[in-house]
Amino acid sequence: MPASFPPWTEEHELFRKSVRKFTHERLTPHKQSWDKAGEWPAREVFKEMADLGLLGIRFGEASGGLGLDWWYTTAFVEELTQARNGGVVMSILVNTDMATPIIDEIGTPEQKEEFLAPVIAGEKIAALGVTEPGCGSDVAAIRTTARKDGGDYVINGAKTYITNGSFADFITLAVRTGDEGHFGISLVLFPTDTPGFSVGRKLDKLGTRSVDSSELHFDNCRIPQRYLLGQENGGFIHIMTNFQGERLVAALMANAGMEMQIQDALEYGRQREAFGRPILKFQVWRHKFADLLTRALACKMLGYHAVDTINHGGDPTLQVSMAKLLAADLAQQVAYDCLQFHGGYGFVEEYDIARAYRDVRLLTIGGGTSEVMKEIIAKWSGIG
Ligand SMILES: Cc1cc2nc3c(=O)[nH]c(=O)nc-3n(C[C@H](O)[C@H](O)[C@H](O)COP(=O)(O)OP(=O)(O)OC[C@H]3O[C@@H](n4cnc5c(N)ncnc54)[C@H](O)[C@@H]3O)c2cc1C
Repeated sequence: MPASFPPWTEEHELFRKSVRKFTHERLTPHKQSWDKAGEWPAREVFKEMADLGLLGIRFGEASGGLGLDWWYTTAFVEELTQARNGGVVMSILVNTDMATPIIDEIGTPEQKEEFLAPVIAGEKIAALGVTEPGCGSDVAAIRTTARKDGGDYVINGAKTYITNGSFADFITLAVRTGDEGHFGISLVLFPTDTPGFSVGRKLDKLGTRSVDSSELHFDNCRIPQRYLLGQENGGFIHIMTNFQGERLVAALMANAGMEMQIQDALEYGRQREAFGRPILKFQVWRHKFADLLTRALACKMLGYHAVDTINHGGDPTLQVSMAKLLAADLAQQVAYDCLQFHGGYGFVEEYDIARAYRDVRLLTIGGGTSEVMKEIIAKWSGIG
């Protein structure tokens, strides 16, 4: 571990400040109204973020990216979380860190020009389409097919829960191009103006309500074979590679959210009185928060350890899975305890904790469930 860990530099801090300013001015004021509306002005805001250089942090400069390291992404996620709206943060991170890094990594120069550069410029929005009505955790079981016909792929099938799905310009899409199982899957870049594509229901969700999670249908959709991303039938490995970044940003978001909820609760507890004293003076709560602060810091450090591993180009699977597992699980307890500490006020929408309580519930499910994380950890630790 380097002498200074995490290795924040002055440049990281300057970058952090610009994300904080943007978040506080442009996102946080709408934390309630966008949640109530069930949508947010993604296209408009992405254009503004592009103008600030926030949409291509780690991506190649040839595509218009900044070519920076994972610590910049860490600062980005931590400050973005101050939007206090899990749906908006999720929508942004799908575009910047879940649907697009794999294009930067394995896309052809033409694919980067057509798909990645416009995302970085705020002109296109991306979604990631893996989950189907019949399978989520078991990615190897996907059934959406891409059959070769002339110079095209003809795509048939359905996806579900797709974040940004109703307004994305393209989808980084998992399809079956070969036999059943892991080695018959490919990734393609799928433009959503392709004839035969349709958006089904926007699912009515418990949390992350500002952004849609949509059902998508593919009915004889024809895309050119040059939209194949990476190796044909090598998609499973590409998806697993991509998952590492996706899970890591989810863990970073969870950690930043916990810190914010605890600080909010401490502030509340200094003001709110019961039985003649601030409720934070009750020992049961003092100990509760001492415990939560300790665990949240340990969890954050595990997240930073995963960032350090991925930043050095090592295989981050074990560290990322552990960081996602711990952060997603601890986030449930932090949200529960912080809501409880607010008493009745915790149950009403005026306080951010009610929305956070709903939003964090996704963390043990999305991008790979906690049970799946444990399976990976067991396998990678040699447990079997
Ligand atoms: C709000 C939201 C947004 C989402 N956004 C996207 C998106 O943008 N793109 C996308 O592709 N997907 C997205 N998803 C889907 C998400 O990734 C899946 O829901 C998740 O991977 C779990 O899959 P599943 O829902 O099919 O559950 P299942 O796989 O059916 O799992 C059900 C239960 O069985 C358990 N289980 C499964 N396998 C095992 C095992 N081997 N051992 C032990 N337990 C097991 C699971 O842990 C879970 O508890 C989103 C989901 C939600 C709710």
